[in-house]
Amino acid sequence: MSELFVRTLREDPADAEVPSHRWLVRGGYIRRAAPGIYTWLPLGLRVLHKVEDIVREEMDAIGGQEVHFPALLPREPYELTNRWIEYGPNLFRLKDRKGNDMLLGPTHEEMFTLLVKDLYSSYKDLPLVLYQIQTKYRDEARPRAGVLRGREFVMKDSYSFDIDDAGLQAAYDKHRDAYIRIFDRLGLEYVIVQAMSGAMGGSASEEFLAVAENGEDTFVRSPGGYAANVEAVAIGAPEPLPYDAAPAAHVEDTPDSTTIEALVRVANDLQPRTDRPWDGSDTLKNVVFMLEYPDGTKEPLAIGLPGDREVDEKRLEAQLEPAVAVPFAEEDFARYPSLVKGYIGPGVLGEENSSGIRYLTDPRVVEGTRWITGADAPQKHVFDLVCGRDFTSDGVIDVAEIRAGDPSPDGSGPLQLARGIEMGHIFQLGRKYADALGLKVLDQNGKQVTVTMGSYGVGVSRAVAAVAETTCDEKGLRWPRALAPFDVQLVATGKGTEVADYAAGLAQELDAAGITVLYDDRKASPGVKFADAELLGMPTTVVVGRGLAEGVVELRDRIEGTAEQVPVAEAVERIVAQVRG
Ligand code: ATP
Ligand code: MG
Repeated sequence: MSELFVRTLREDPADAEVPSHRWLVRGGYIRRAAPGIYTWLPLGLRVLHKVEDIVREEMDAIGGQEVHFPALLPREPYELTNRWIEYGPNLFRLKDRKGNDMLLGPTHEEMFTLLVKDLYSSYKDLPLVLYQIQTKYRDEARPRAGVLRGREFVMKDSYSFDIDDAGLQAAYDKHRDAYIRIFDRLGLEYVIVQAMSGAMGGSASEEFLAVAENGEDTFVRSPGGYAANVEAVAIGAPEPLPYDAAPAAHVEDTPDSTTIEALVRVANDLQPRTDRPWDGSDTLKNVVFMLEYPDGTKEPLAIGLPGDREVDEKRLEAQLEPAVAVPFAEEDFARYPSLVKGYIGPGVLGEENSSGIRYLTDPRVVEGTRWITGADAPQKHVFDLVCGRDFTSDGVIDVAEIRAGDPSPDGSGPLQLARGIEMGHIFQLGRKYADALGLKVLDQNGKQVTVTMGSYGVGVSRAVAAVAETTCDEKGLRWPRALAPFDVQLVATGKGTEVADYAAGLAQELDAAGITVLYDDRKASPGVKFADAELLGMPTTVVVGRGLAEGVVELRDRIEGTAEQVPVAEAVERIVAQVRG
C-alpha cells in the first residue's frame, strides 16, 4: 500500500449520483478525465481485466475468435448503412488533415461485415463468430454514474455469420448460453428480458439486465414467466366493442378542464353517469410532439391515449428511433391554429383532417370504444365519441406507460415492475447489414446468397460499476472473489517490528501459495487502515496486530461481515481455504 498508486478519498465526488460511482472514485479505482470519460487506476484496471478475462474465456468457449478493430474509422461504411446520419448526435465525428470524415466507433457491425466480405466467399467458410473487446465512443446525452454510462467505454462485441436462419438461431443460442455463464461468473443477479433492437434493426433480441434499484432500465415480469424491457412490451389490442346502441356524440361545456383531473371532476359535476363516476380512463388525451429526424427534417405527430396514462418517454423513444420526439412548443402551436391547447381532439387530428397532423392512437383505442375528448374549441369537450364511428386514427402506437398490475401481454398474470442495468444485449440482425454492404457467399449450388448475422454486446467497463453497485455497502466496496483486484488485504497494526516482520513474511507465504495480497504496510493508524480496507473491498482482510502476542491473527470476510481469530500456525492454510472458497 505504501507504493501502490492510490489515494483514497474521504469526500464523495460532487457529481456522484450512485454508490458505485462514489466508491470507485473514493477507493482510487477510477478518476474522471472529462464528463463521461474516465482513467483506470491500478486497482480499477485489475478489476476491468478480470471482467475481460471472464468474457474472453466464455467467448472462446463457444468458438469465438478474437480480433481487434481500430476505434478510429472511416465514414464510408457507416454511410452505406445510413448510420453516419442515423446515429445522430451520439456519434463522435471528426476530420483528418485532408478533410476526410472520420468517426470514433460506437459499435462495429459495418466493419465486421466488410472484413468477412473481404476474406470469405463460400458457405464452407461458415459458420463464423468473431469478437473483440474494444473501446467504444458514444456522445451520450446523459453520461452518468461514472463508468456505468460513459462516453468512452469498453464493450465486448461479437458478430455471427451464417448461411441460413437455422445457423443464426444456433449462434444466438450459443451466445445466450455464454452470456448466462458470464453473468453467473460475475456474480450478478440478472434477468433476461425481451428487448427492442433499436438503431441496429433486426428482429429477435434479448437483454441481460442486472437487477438494481439505480438502474436506468425498467423491466416487467409476470408470475407466469413473461419478462421484457418496458420499451419492448407490446400490450396487444382488446376486441372491438359493439356500438349500435351508443348515443350520438355530443359537445358539452367543460369550463377550465385543461387537465384530465379537472376534466373528470367537471364531467362528474355536469354530465354525471348513472352507473358509476367518470374516471381518467374514460377520457382520450391527445398529445402533440414534433419529431426531429437525424437529417434535420421535422414532422408533427399526435398521440391519443387513455387520459389516466402518460406517454412513457422511453417507450416513445424506442418506437420512434432514430427520430426524437419533443413536446410541441408555443411556436409549433402557433403554426397549427386548429389545435386548441388543452382541448385538442380527433376532430382536427389525422392526415385527412384540418391540421394534417399524423394521428396515432394507443392500442386500447379500438373500434367501439367511447371517449370524452377535446372538442377542438375552448372550454369544450365531446362526449360519447365512438372510435370507428366518429373518428379514426392513422395507426396505432404503443407508448403509454406500463403500470404494476397491468395484464401481461401473453396472459401470464399481472405485471410487476423493477429496475435494472443493461449488461448485455443479443440480437438477430438478419440480413440488414449484409444486404447494405453486399456480404454474399456461394451456397452448395453455386448460387450467391446473402449472409445472415447476429450481433452481441457485453458492457465490460459497465460490468465493473454494476458489480460494485449491487455488492457495495455503506462502508465501501465488497468485491466478489472472481473480480477483486487482490484476494486479500493484509493489515498490519501496531508499532513493533515483530508485527511488521510477521506480516511481511505472511504476505510472502500467501504470494507463494498463489494468493494475491495487498499488504497495508503504511505508517497509518489502525482506524485509517481498517476504513481503507472496507472502502477498497477485498473479500478477505487479515489483521496482524495485538493478537500476535497470543499467537493469533484475525480473518475478516468482507462480504459476510464475519471475523474470526485464527492461530498463527494455521493462518496460511485458513486464508487459502477462505480465498478458494
Ligand atoms: P443503453 O440502452 O444502456 O444505452 P445500448 O442499447 O445503447 O445501451 P448496445 O448498443 O446494445 O447498448 O451496447 C451493448 C452493451 O454495451 C450494452 O448492453 C451495455 O452493457 C454497454 N453500453 C452501452 N452504452 C454504454 C455506455 N455509454 N457506457 C457503458 N456501457 C455501455
Ligand atoms: Mg445506448
